[in-house]
Amino acid sequence: MATIATPPTTYQTKILIGDQWRDSVSGKTFSTINPATEEVIAEVAEGDAADIDLAVTAARNAFESGPWASMDARDRGMLLMKLADLMEARLEELAALETLDNGKPISDARAADLPLAIDCLRYYGGWADKIQGATIPIRGNYFCYTRREPVGVCGQIIPWNFPILMAAWKWGPALAAGKTVVMEPDEQTPLTCLRIAELAFEAGFPPGVINVVPGFGPTAGASLVKHPNVDKIAFTGEHHTGKIIMKDAAATLKRLTFELGGKSPNIVFADANLDDAVAGAEFGLFFNQGQCCCAGSRLFVEDSVHDEFVERVVERAKERVVGNPFDGDTTQGPQVDQAQMEKILGFIEKGKEQGADCLIGGSRVGDQGYFIEPTVFDNVTDDMDIAQHEIFGPVMNILRFKDVDEVIERSNRTMFGLAAAVWTSDVTKAHRIASEVRAGTVW
Ligand code: ADP
Repeated sequence: MATIATPPTTYQTKILIGDQWRDSVSGKTFSTINPATEEVIAEVAEGDAADIDLAVTAARNAFESGPWASMDARDRGMLLMKLADLMEARLEELAALETLDNGKPISDARAADLPLAIDCLRYYGGWADKIQGATIPIRGNYFCYTRREPVGVCGQIIPWNFPILMAAWKWGPALAAGKTVVMEPDEQTPLTCLRIAELAFEAGFPPGVINVVPGFGPTAGASLVKHPNVDKIAFTGEHHTGKIIMKDAAATLKRLTFELGGKSPNIVFADANLDDAVAGAEFGLFFNQGQCCCAGSRLFVEDSVHDEFVERVVERAKERVVGNPFDGDTTQGPQVDQAQMEKILGFIEKGKEQGADCLIGGSRVGDQGYFIEPTVFDNVTDDMDIAQHEIFGPVMNILRFKDVDEVIERSNRTMFGLAAAVWTSDVTKAHRIASEVRAGTVW
């Protein structure tokens, strides 16, 4: 019997600008909600254009003068390492805070989000003094070389599905390179980002290097994108938002780095080790309540093993433990908020209407907290909404295929191209999928 973890009871809820934790200029706050109970956890300062402007000024000053601007690369790296150490020392506290604000099972926060975030900061800490340019032989009596220089102030906009890990993915490379950052965490899950910003101070990052402005996308996020003193935007979120950001950034010709949505094919061939493939399909879809941009959300299964595979994957889905995310035995917590829950239930209804077979699940669990049953649809076809759109929930969609040419063609019939996976014992086939399925990552 696993123990129940204890949620933290105190939170940082203010805006971080320079070395100050402040209320918003407007005085406004918003509620952050515990998705397992629907109760308000805390009121958080709601930043908008005025707060972003102050944060950008602090970041600009820290970039251009003061200790950060003249710090040796190695020392920047050491600060990232120190932050990683502090997070490691508080792993349980941070995991519990993430579980409280996001709803993910504490076992996942402990085993995945925190260790991965800590690894990421250490990894980039190691890069800080290894960022090199090149010498270039050119015609004539010239010495030609390149230097890699930090771009300046980086605006960073992150989603709610892996709040602490997203912050680490964005801070690590930017700070290793010597940029300063203004981060806008998602309004659903601001608490861990604010807490690790406190730890960054403890680690010794100079004021203004890291600024955090919680708020809403169309106000705080958009003003960060439009701000003339921000040199670059790094964004992870929905592709619709990516389009808005690209437009908004055009006026100031900002550099952009995006990680957007996906509808990733997970392809199971008949010659795969089915134990591994079933476990991989379950993890690839249900991990994090299905709230992963790279979720294996189109599960293609070869005809000859289809029936056996489906039976086994359904058995595994039935074994998932949905409930209190603070219970160490729980494997599936609530969705992050009511809007997401309703969107997912809407897709489930569409799947039923359009003729897919709902083998298990399909409904909300209980009436408090945003829990959804692990759901498996079989006999899904390419044109159905559940096969086309990002559901971002615990909804597995199984599609049949007959041969390798067909599955490659169908895998590519999507506007996304984030990730893909293949299960086979034929290495030739695996490499063919890796090269012909258009995806940024193929497992
Ligand atoms: P999600 O459903 O994952 O929240 P979004 O793309 O809506 O996906 O949000 C991801 C992040 O983008 C959040 O931090 C949100 O506040 C921010 N955001 C949303 N709209 C905008 C916008 N118009 N400009 C800048 N940032 C935005």
